[in-house]
Amino acid sequence: MSHVSVSGLTRRFNGRPPAVAVADLDLDIEDGEFLVLLGPSGCGKTTTLRCLAGLETPDSGTIRLGDSIVFDQAKRLNLPPNKRFIGMVFQSYALWPHMTVRKNIGYPLKARKMREALASGQVEETAKLVDCQDLLDRYPAQLSGGQQQRVALARGLVARPDLVLFDEPLSNLDARLRDQVRAELHELHQRKPFTAVFVTHDQSEALALGTRMAIMRSGRIEQLGSPQEVFEDPASEYVAAFIGMSNRVAAHFADGAWKFGTADVLGAMLRPERSTSDVTVRVRPDDARLAAEADSLAPHEAGVPAVVADVEFGGKHLDVTVEVEGGHRLNVRADIGRSGDFLQVLARGDRVVFAFDTNA
Ligand code: ADP
Ligand code: MG
Repeated sequence: MSHVSVSGLTRRFNGRPPAVAVADLDLDIEDGEFLVLLGPSGCGKTTTLRCLAGLETPDSGTIRLGDSIVFDQAKRLNLPPNKRFIGMVFQSYALWPHMTVRKNIGYPLKARKMREALASGQVEETAKLVDCQDLLDRYPAQLSGGQQQRVALARGLVARPDLVLFDEPLSNLDARLRDQVRAELHELHQRKPFTAVFVTHDQSEALALGTRMAIMRSGRIEQLGSPQEVFEDPASEYVAAFIGMSNRVAAHFADGAWKFGTADVLGAMLRPERSTSDVTVRVRPDDARLAAEADSLAPHEAGVPAVVADVEFGGKHLDVTVEVEGGHRLNVRADIGRSGDFLQVLARGDRVVFAFDTNA
């Protein structure tokens, strides 16, 4: 377990067009922290991990792992991967097909020339940790996807590395298994903290697992904070959109009232009251509500008149797209209530009120 410090990290690729995969990136990871790198495909997540692992040579910057510098471009210092004490877990489990689970998990210990007896104890202990102690004598082909991923996880952890790198390790699992392994991984880290960088493009994974999360954009970190901080106070439109706050409603104050376009904001006043500047309200689809009429708004709710553009049935909820004045579209995930709830007969073209909490 170790503190990690990255500064000025840059990695360019001379393709057509040339790409700056990682652009002057600074990042400090605390001891025992589970840091999630979140961002869309192509934003530089994998390249950042590969630079940390020593699989990619950066064009500039420094990388410090614990007390030792593992990369310093200015000093021409570049420790090879096997000299950095790092565990890795990938999307493709990359298990050796001809080796048993026991041999697969023990591989990093063998590479470190650990004594057989000591290694075997450590393999069994780690296998227990990820609940695959009963699989030790099987071959990868005899395991389910979830079991294979647990073995890969054990292999990444077995040598108690200073840092464990995860590159979208859950994305090949089906949805149910993904939730399960995610929960197990979270519990494991709570029980036995290790320093980790976990790459994903899935915001729910980031929120569930990260002690902090870094939102990446074009090789840079756009925002870094606890999941709560990023979720509640996204630093930019890009971050807000990426973590699912897809609704942006710009309001302005005119003629003594808050307005969206020419329509009055119904219900509660927006804060700051009587400000003359515009306010942008971001509302997550599951924090918004559809009301049948303006007078059914709660005292703390604001509302905008809207017309239903699309309704998708989702079992216990509806995903509704509404259009407000000016053609701007907003999304609502609405829980369906008991019979008699107007949502049960909601249809395209209906007039509704897009409502949200102004205290939130
Ligand atoms: P992510 O993991 O976030 O999807 P990557 O780190 O894989 O992003 O890629 C970042 C950028 O660098 C992309 O534009 C990608 O095309 C480019 N890139 C990555 N690896 C290479 C490579 N080996 N050669 C050329 N371009 C690359
Ligand atoms: Mg990637």
